Amino acid sequence: MAVFTVVNPATERPVTDVSLASVEDTDRLVERAHAAFPAWRDVTPGDRATLLRRFAAVVDAHVEELAELEVRNAGHTWGNATWEAGNVRDCLNYYSAAPERMFGRQIPVPGGLDVTFHEPLGVVGIIVPWNFPMPIMAWGMAPALAAGNTVVLKPAELTPLTAIRIGELALEAGLPEGVFTVIPGKGSVVGERFVTHPLVRKVCFTGSTEVGKRIMAGCADQVKRCTLELGGKSANVIFADADLAAAAAAAPYAVFDNAGQDCCARSRILVERTAYDEFLDLLEPAVRAMAVLDPADRRSEMGPLISAHQRSSVRAYVEDADVAFTGPAPAGPGFWVPPTVVLSDSPDERIWREEVFGPVVAVMPFDDEADAVARANDTDYGLAGSIFTADVGRALRVARGVQAGNLSVNSNSAVRYWTPFGGYKQSGLGRELGPDAPHAFTEEKNVFIAH
Ligand code: NAD
Repeated sequence: MAVFTVVNPATERPVTDVSLASVEDTDRLVERAHAAFPAWRDVTPGDRATLLRRFAAVVDAHVEELAELEVRNAGHTWGNATWEAGNVRDCLNYYSAAPERMFGRQIPVPGGLDVTFHEPLGVVGIIVPWNFPMPIMAWGMAPALAAGNTVVLKPAELTPLTAIRIGELALEAGLPEGVFTVIPGKGSVVGERFVTHPLVRKVCFTGSTEVGKRIMAGCADQVKRCTLELGGKSANVIFADADLAAAAAAAPYAVFDNAGQDCCARSRILVERTAYDEFLDLLEPAVRAMAVLDPADRRSEMGPLISAHQRSSVRAYVEDADVAFTGPAPAGPGFWVPPTVVLSDSPDERIWREEVFGPVVAVMPFDDEADAVARANDTDYGLAGSIFTADVGRALRVARGVQAGNLSVNSNSAVRYWTPFGGYKQSGLGRELGPDAPHAFTEEKNVFIAH
């Protein structure tokens, strides 16, 4: 059986070997999930809610263990990793309320009674990237299970450990065998099989835009439902009337969190020209002060990149760029790249257009509100963005003008499970999270009963 050696990105030392599933293994586990579906669908709403709450409680009892695993597997800081494990618990608790609230509608029609039902799809396949293994797993798995589907989930090759453990915790919590199955393996094997297997009725994919396009094309063959959460090149737009000190203090965390390996990273900073120099003067000490440390150190604010491959890809972007200043990075082993601020004067530059997926931010001046919105929108992506201004009217106009799914004003808000999340343009298709997420894992059925 093929195995993958998981490496600690902070030490470059092997952590453990993980067996990779074959197409045959995948088929067997998809069939088991399909066999488990009718009984799971028919668990009464109250009992399904109870099981999800129990699952949340078991995860809660293992937050430290899961966080420690993620620090070693993905190089996430301790602070981030504990938040991420807690996010799995919180998503399960939030969606545990859904089974008892899967309301249909009663629609007035002539000649009878008309009602709608939200019925689960069957087996849902979830494909997870390496950058946020635990939250992205939960954002798909929790609402899908709540809506009565069974789930097969493929973690990224580089980061399977927390998913495998959470799969075990599901059984410990009392979820029946086959309801939630973690299948570690390659994208080209397990991931592709989710797309081609006729018993998988929906694919939720989070990852690169390039692979996402292939998934969407593959799903077309069976008219399979799919949700895509893809890349980003989000803008942080700072007007001269903003609290510049607050905007500059927050900006590093909006892009360098998780070493910039964040689809929502505000990796383009647009600053009104009259405040440009002052903003950079405020940004520099904030970047230099970042605690880029061993991720297991409780004070660490930024860890290493996930792999040597990712580090060389990020370094290639920096080599071509006009670097203004950088923050610190440890010497010695580990896939480190310091937080890096580059100046950009043309929207045609690679650093301005492409998703670096590392701790690199490009800064560019703008002239007025219309120019700011035009520059923010001059991208194929549209996932997130921030607006810093003291003018409420302007904040609203710009928030409405920027073509992206998740905007925040005078803050760089992270993904919140209470609110819908997803991208415009090539950042994705469909929405996850928020109160409506379980409906995305159902078909709406209409039934008319003649008087
Ligand atoms: P990736 O596309 O290489 O891989 C993502 C997942 O897809 C992995 O599990 C991988 O094994 C699998 N995969 C690869 N090829 C496949 C195929 N042919 N068929 C099916 N599955 C396949 O992306 P990555 O490098 O792991 O993650 C980084 C990317 O993810 C970035 O572009 C980032 O912006 C994006 N991302 C987006 C969001 C979002 O919510 N929009 C969140 C996190 C990451």
